[in-house]
Amino acid sequence: LSFSSCSLPEKLQQNLETAGYEVPTPVQMQAIPAALTGKNLLVSADTGSGKTASFLVPVVSFCTRLRHANSSKQKKPAAMVLAPTRELCVQVEEQAKLLGKGLPFKTALVVGGDAMAGQIYRIQQGVELIVGTPGRLIDLLTKHHIELDEVSIFVLDEVDCMLQRGFRDQVMQIFQALSQPQILMYSATISPEVEKMASSMAKDLLYVSV
Ligand code: AMP
Repeated sequence: LSFSSCSLPEKLQQNLETAGYEVPTPVQMQAIPAALTGKNLLVSADTGSGKTASFLVPVVSFCTRLRHANSSKQKKPAAMVLAPTRELCVQVEEQAKLLGKGLPFKTALVVGGDAMAGQIYRIQQGVELIVGTPGRLIDLLTKHHIELDEVSIFVLDEVDCMLQRGFRDQVMQIFQALSQPQILMYSATISPEVEKMASSMAKDLLYVSV
């Protein structure tokens, strides 16, 4: 499999080349085609495997096609990545910007430590992708500053780490605010707890391990 056999938007294909991503990594080879066809995934993958691009390529592809189909609509987020730490969110957003360059693909970072006002302003301008940590997202949700009912792809990165940090209830509360999105769940280890959370969100999970 190559990126060019995935029928990605042309600009995304170019951005992958510019980033130097010539050959998909094993996790990308398995996850990208499955995610592009709408499957719910539980992926066991470590940092360094190329896992970030394995969910961002489908996310950018989906958002681009969506905006192409209804360009005049008020933009609520169409995709969301939830991750345990601010640092990880920053990295994910950076890579998302790289892959979405030149496309109608705006991102917002929703993490603690930054002023909330700036994040709210950015969301209200209209973004395709939210990248955030559970705590700050819950804050914005309960204060009605963010609407997540049009999120079609929900990515959970480093789920084992989110559970270790005690984010289980917050993650489930965020999931409740969504309307049956596609689930892309990533974890270094697939513990029974991770599996339980995944199967409570999606019945038809496809397991991917590399
Ligand atoms: P990750 O596992 O997502 O943290 O990615 C590890 C590193 O691999 C990052 O620095 C990416 O920029 C890089 N990377 C991801 N996919 C590819 C690819 N297909 N070819 C070359 N480098 C890649």
